[in-house]
Amino acid sequence: MKGFDNNWLRLDHDKIWHPYTSMSNPLPVYPVASAEGVRIRLADGTELIDGMSSWWAAIHGYNHPELNAAAKAQLDSMAHVMFGGLTHQPAVELAGELLALAPHAIDRIFFADSGSVAVEVAIKMAIQYWHALGKPGKSKLLTIRSGYHGDTFGAMSVCDPVTGMHELFTGVLPKHFFAPAPKSKFDEPLAPSDIEPVARLLEQHHQEIAAMIIEPVVQGAGGMRIYSPQFVTEARRLCDEHGVLLILDEIATAFGRTGRMFASEHAGIEPDIVCVGKALTGGYLTLAATMTTPKVADVISSGNPGVFMHGPTFMANPLACAIALASLRVLNGSDWKTRVSQIEAQMKRELAHCRDLAGVVDVRALGAIGVVEMAEPVDVGTLQRAFVERGVWVRPFGTQVYIMPPYIIDREDLTRLTGAIHDVLANDS
Ligand SMILES: *Cc1c(COP(=O)(O)O)cnc(C)c1O
Repeated sequence: MKGFDNNWLRLDHDKIWHPYTSMSNPLPVYPVASAEGVRIRLADGTELIDGMSSWWAAIHGYNHPELNAAAKAQLDSMAHVMFGGLTHQPAVELAGELLALAPHAIDRIFFADSGSVAVEVAIKMAIQYWHALGKPGKSKLLTIRSGYHGDTFGAMSVCDPVTGMHELFTGVLPKHFFAPAPKSKFDEPLAPSDIEPVARLLEQHHQEIAAMIIEPVVQGAGGMRIYSPQFVTEARRLCDEHGVLLILDEIATAFGRTGRMFASEHAGIEPDIVCVGKALTGGYLTLAATMTTPKVADVISSGNPGVFMHGPTFMANPLACAIALASLRVLNGSDWKTRVSQIEAQMKRELAHCRDLAGVVDVRALGAIGVVEMAEPVDVGTLQRAFVERGVWVRPFGTQVYIMPPYIIDREDLTRLTGAIHDVLANDS
């Protein structure tokens, strides 16, 4: 590559693991020099329109002046202090803003350092809750197939055993209860056959089940599925009926991605525990949170051992909290709702052209999420290169070619993304 020290790339190739890659036969990686707005600039000067928001995170685009300013200001006072025995304004202010945005019943917060850890924390909260109530037998989880909740062991145990990428670990993971993924689509009424298996599992096993955990309305990395909000409403009702907590994993969906601040708003229900991450810092730093109700927090705190048993080293990192606070203010100060619904309408219109292409089995969109599903898994390396040649950054996964652009993307850039998907899939098939 022109103007680029190739030694750097060789080191990357020889010694560094990228996500879910082989060390002996790695897919090509593209060196990035900088990023601004919806543009990722490669080391050779190529500009790519970003269709991924760096995995659901960079909702305001890159190099945002207000987020940069928040980072710089915070850096001048402190980058980090431990959260054990100390506290700081960025964490407290962020907690206030997050809890104000969250579903009404949610009013207690635990800061975690990544989405997977937030899920571990949620699972632990549910188990500690029942333990404190004298029901330690309620320690299993109920979930649905096609889910993805992270890469750590507790999170892996509730991922789809096949599409959730962790089949190899089946033997070492705790066994939980899985219902089929709902088939009813977003705008369809819920088919009784979708919820019956959940009802049956709860009836038979509620004495062993601490919580049901699901990604509400949109399942991300486990299959990019968009399903009927009524399923979530019914899941809430059944959990209440059987004395089981409901954990919503909104790590991918929170902060407007589905057209609502939280995806649970489509279902008009409130969880007992909710996890957020990804877009929390606008894509700047790793930070996540697990939020719950005063009731869950009180029960945990009044039982044995009386404390919640978790505390990451970088818990509530001030730099990340200050940037997250700025990100929420940028979001609240923008007309994101209109913008996301415009993105949805445009993606539905433009991606519809892919329906007739060979190999395409489904095209769907909700909020700022657009998906073209193929019959067969795609060759990621080949497609990725074809997208880069067309000046866009789209990274397919399995059978899914999908985009979730920053909310600030304009009409023309979005058309270039959807057009590139059409052209690449047309040429490929
Ligand atoms: C990405 C994701 C996670 C894991 O978050 P990490 O920050 O990658 O650990 C968990 N749940 C959902 C729904 C996600 O999309």
